[in-house]
Amino acid sequence: MIIRSLELETVCGITSTLPENTLPEIAFAGKSNVGKSSLINGLMNRKSFARTSATPGKTQTINFYNINQELYLVDLPGYGYAKVSEQEKKKWGQMIERYLHQSKQLRAVFLLIDIRHAPSANDKMMYDWILSQGYHPIIIATKLDKLKRSQVQKQIKVVRQGLGLSKDSILIPFSAVTKQGRDEIWDLAEEICGL
Ligand code: GDP
Repeated sequence: MIIRSLELETVCGITSTLPENTLPEIAFAGKSNVGKSSLINGLMNRKSFARTSATPGKTQTINFYNINQELYLVDLPGYGYAKVSEQEKKKWGQMIERYLHQSKQLRAVFLLIDIRHAPSANDKMMYDWILSQGYHPIIIATKLDKLKRSQVQKQIKVVRQGLGLSKDSILIPFSAVTKQGRDEIWDLAEEICGL
């Protein structure tokens, strides 16, 4: 994907009305600090356009990035931040649920998992939840550069088994440092959006 134009078009908080977009949407979910901002910045060829986690979990918004007037990358708020109150967690859940339910343009949900660790209970819950909302999450295993090459296949297995992925589920390893996986993610996103 060649980025010709890029705009943070909509930022939705808990009480905002969700936009009724006409372009296809691709959403990204993952726990705080998994590398979601870095991935979105990497996809957009920017260093720090998407928020970074100076205060992880603080920004409970859904951000819509319009790419080339062709599609939206949708940055869902990160989960699993320990210092967030129960009430805020509930609001967070409602906000994501509302988006997954209401968006008429959502074509796919990418779920980010740190390749170095077995998926957490929250990761597993998020995976099952996305499934139950009728989407088949595509897994992005982040921070690939932090592993030795010899560990990669083993860790992919750990992530796959931890989430209970079926054989035909897609998992793409990605590094925001080397950009490995970027083209694969874009190719898939474009295919899904019919571009
Ligand atoms: P977010 O909270 O999910 O948006 O996570 P960020 O993108 O802000 O990343 C959290 C931390 O992990 C930051 O210090 C990033 O620099 C680092 N990070 C993110 N992706 C990668 C990666 O692919 N490789 C390495 N080495 N560090 C990464």
